[in-house]
Amino acid sequence: MAEKVVAAVRTGPERTEFREFDMPDIPDDGALLKIEVAGICGTDVKFYSKPPIDDPVIMGHENIGIIAKAGKTFQKRRGLKEGDRVFAEHYVGCYNCEHCHRGDYRLCLATDWRKNPDGIRFGYTPMTRAPHLWGGFAQYMYLPWNSVLHSLPDGLSPELAGVVTPMANGIQWALFDCGVGYQTKLLVQGPGQQGLSQVVTGKQAGAELIIVTGTSKDAKRLEVAKKLGADFTINVEEEDPVERIAEITGGEGVDVALDCTAGAGTAPLLLGLEALKRKGGTLLVQQEVAEFPNFPLAKLCNKYVTVKCARGHNYQSCEQALQQLNSDRFPLDLITTHRFGLEQTHDAIKAVGGSGDAIHVSLMPWL
Ligand SMILES: [Zn+2]
Ligand SMILES: [Zn+2]
Repeated sequence: MAEKVVAAVRTGPERTEFREFDMPDIPDDGALLKIEVAGICGTDVKFYSKPPIDDPVIMGHENIGIIAKAGKTFQKRRGLKEGDRVFAEHYVGCYNCEHCHRGDYRLCLATDWRKNPDGIRFGYTPMTRAPHLWGGFAQYMYLPWNSVLHSLPDGLSPELAGVVTPMANGIQWALFDCGVGYQTKLLVQGPGQQGLSQVVTGKQAGAELIIVTGTSKDAKRLEVAKKLGADFTINVEEEDPVERIAEITGGEGVDVALDCTAGAGTAPLLLGLEALKRKGGTLLVQQEVAEFPNFPLAKLCNKYVTVKCARGHNYQSCEQALQQLNSDRFPLDLITTHRFGLEQTHDAIKAVGGSGDAIHVSLMPWL
């Protein structure tokens, strides 16, 4: 094993520098992950252009790899050994609070980087903190005792497994949070990797109707949406989506509207609210919009809408996502469109944010 570890470090807005670190000593209850695939998502695009903290960070929070080194206690407690392939959630839980006991590591204060300056989260924790290797845009990542790990099912390729985070979000948001299931009428806004994962989970769960919206730059992604099971796609720049959804649903509207547009402002919220059925629909929102003056609260209440907030994934949704990815029921190779080496980290993040045909981008440090 090399004595040095190379990592791509975000040192400022849109700036990546490559640094060498000493191979860390692994405590008895810790391990070291050799990164095979670090998936890149819209959050990376956002935080690469506007870093939430000034400290340098090794990004990469959707990580698949092989346990390269593991302490005895780690192996015993986690049932894992060197050579095992795992998905490491980016949450690092305390394993004591009510959220952790429920598998909701996403809600644990120990991994809440916004509220807790000492919180640890892969891809977010500054590299200044020992032992430095806190992100997947690197050859190796450090796994403390309280990492949240999932063994990969046999036969699942690392690249496809790299889609586990958006797929787990799809299961969490659509199925667990919004109750999508048999005969649901579903609107998915935004045909990126997140929206397409919602299409897959909605289809698998038995949704009766799936409508996906996008813009002109999404032409290819909307085609993929159809291949994955969307019944209708709408280019909101060419058609009035409210009218079109009314037409498709015979004026009844949809049961659930999911916003997966990542940064399209207030428009998707307003469209989702309009598109929902007369009473009792469910609206999934993201936290992209800090303030929303003139938010139509009266309409929300009048339509008796339930609002759910997109907030990552729990343990179970990750397990189910890995099974889904390994099932061969959907042409998921249509999603894994791009792969980049570590030295191309900047280009890889830009590819996700760019207008083009990139859907899921894999950073493969050893490519
Ligand atoms: Zn992500
Ligand atoms: Zn906890």
